[in-house]
Amino acid sequence: MIEGGCNCGSIRYRIEGTPLAVAACHCTRCRRQSGSVYSVNLVVPTAAMTMTGQVKVFEDVDTTSGKPVYREFCGDCGSPIRSLIGASPGVVAVKVGTLDDPGPHAPGLHVFTRSKIDWVEIPSGVPQFAESPG
Ligand SMILES: [Zn+2]
Ligand SMILES: [Zn+2]
Repeated sequence: MIEGGCNCGSIRYRIEGTPLAVAACHCTRCRRQSGSVYSVNLVVPTAAMTMTGQVKVFEDVDTTSGKPVYREFCGDCGSPIRSLIGASPGVVAVKVGTLDDPGPHAPGLHVFTRSKIDWVEIPSGVPQFAESPG
């Protein structure tokens, strides 16, 4: 069981089973929303995740797929929690930084590296994709 939540504690979640992937996204939208230089996400089946508390949702329509990304965050403390990706129904991308224990979840792939910041180094041997792998 994987658990996590936001800074103020009003959002908590649980994920059952094994994540499908751990993806680091270097797109400018994820960068800005995370407030960091890229975003690391646990990709899990939507049905595997249960959440308590009420998130706010930003419908992000500036996407390469043309389908919106619904970026969910805590309206009280601002922690980004997860994204529902219109182009990938059935899965959610959960911000690894909000896990109680992010340690075991190193990125297995890096996506949208076309917009990666020059001084960000990706470990050798980790697959990279200029845009989305799919
Ligand atoms: Zn919060
Ligand atoms: Zn992204």
